[in-house]
Amino acid sequence: MKTGNAILSSYGTTIFEVMSRLAQGVGAVNLGQGFPDGNGPDDVVAVAADYLRNGLNQYPSMMGLPELRQAVAQHNKRFYGLDVDWAREVMVTSGGTEAITGALFGLIEPGDEVVLIEPLYDSYLPIVRRAGAVPRLVRLEPPDWTLPRAALAAAFSDKTKLILLNSPMNPCAKVFTTDELEFIAALMLRHDAFAVCDEVYEHIVFDGGRHVSLITLPGMRDRVVRIGSAGKTFSLTGWKVGYLTAAPELLTPIAKAHQFITFTTPPNLQKAVAYGLGKDDAYFDSLARDLEAKRDRLGRGLAEIGFEVLPCHGTYFITTDFRPLGFNGDDAAFCKWITTEAKVAAVPVSAFYDGGGVGYYARFAFCKENASLDEALARLRRHFRK
Ligand code: PMP
Repeated sequence: MKTGNAILSSYGTTIFEVMSRLAQGVGAVNLGQGFPDGNGPDDVVAVAADYLRNGLNQYPSMMGLPELRQAVAQHNKRFYGLDVDWAREVMVTSGGTEAITGALFGLIEPGDEVVLIEPLYDSYLPIVRRAGAVPRLVRLEPPDWTLPRAALAAAFSDKTKLILLNSPMNPCAKVFTTDELEFIAALMLRHDAFAVCDEVYEHIVFDGGRHVSLITLPGMRDRVVRIGSAGKTFSLTGWKVGYLTAAPELLTPIAKAHQFITFTTPPNLQKAVAYGLGKDDAYFDSLARDLEAKRDRLGRGLAEIGFEVLPCHGTYFITTDFRPLGFNGDDAAFCKWITTEAKVAAVPVSAFYDGGGVGYYARFAFCKENASLDEALARLRRHFRK
């Protein structure tokens, strides 16, 4: 009997799905998977509902509704000062995940090299490999997640087609500085490489920090594919509406991949996201401020229980070192243990490394109602008798 594709078959079910199923089975508070437990902004949802009821339910244009593409171009101008031609440089996708996949399939030639930074989001490597590229992995290590510049420079070669960069970065909550981005830009220019920038957490940056988009740096405008996600920006992760900004030479082959993967994205949701991107600054400010308060609420509680809580500069996630709690085992065992025994789910950070990680860090998502965070802390406190 023949078998399915060897690369894809070699991967198990993603850790998020595994932990969420386990959490559901035992009635755990799920701080594993990064989805908010609210229902998103009412006004954005109302726009989608209106278009769903009143007839925007057939195939929209392949590149996305002009209204949303214009809104994405305006958003680029408003937040990053970028001048973008919506008709030639913006495409709507079914989530950030499809944007990433389309960008990789659209740009990679078999045999190309792709530089990736661990810990990494789980969809990157299978798609890089399935597209026929050779991954060059560079590791960031806890607790400070410093960019290892010499290792990064060594990972680049003249075969490098692109670097896949995630900032703000899941799971380690690192926000790349302008200085780090300049270092990456210089390597890209030296080796004639592109960048696919996963910026789905662009509006979730804390402590007055600011997300800097690589595409805004000198020499980068025609080399960078910038990816955003309405799922994160409007706390509507089930919608799977993403958008991609890139120079026409890059966008054209990526659009071919999109044409054959999903072709379109629900038009009613696109209308609502177009409306949402036009919301005033107060919306974007409060998104970050509300999540920052949740970070502090969960982080403080975890620290009181005895976890060592690492700094978190952005995203939905907080990383903790659980060694002070005296657990004897690795991070996968720890996360299973607290899910089944304390009834609070987290995910092991080593799952974000190809060859396994350090092994004693657990990631908790704090994009949850305060009541869920408090319940999780109460359960952990009981479990660890603090
Ligand atoms: N990239 C990163 C780093 C993410 O954390 C996620 C969602 N967890 C995505 C991409 C996927 O975004 P979307 O849901 O829009 O496909």
